[in-house]
Amino acid sequence: MTNFERVRPRSARAVSNVTPISVDAEGKRALFSSASETASPGVGSALVECSRCEERTVMGLGKALRASLPSLHLGFRLGHGDNVRTVSFFRHDYPTYMRCPACGRPSWVRLTFQI
Ligand SMILES: [Zn+2]
Repeated sequence: MTNFERVRPRSARAVSNVTPISVDAEGKRALFSSASETASPGVGSALVECSRCEERTVMGLGKALRASLPSLHLGFRLGHGDNVRTVSFFRHDYPTYMRCPACGRPSWVRLTFQI
């Protein structure tokens, strides 16, 4: 009578040898920040024109986005110089309702993103 040695399944050992692939979080973050911070100078700001105090406030795009939340947007404008495109859903001179950075009160403002 012959005993055949049973071949043990080797899959368990093979799996344990696999090292988990580390996620390159640092690289992704560097990529993201460089993409958002190397915008050409002069653009990447936002102009807030307040209907209440008639002040014009220029702020960074990110700061403007944070300041405009929460807000009511009936429209906004994109562009700079003479090349400004109005994206509006209603005809309104001051289509964004947000806290004005100049007078600090919720006001109807005209928000222009300089891009
Ligand atoms: Zn104001």
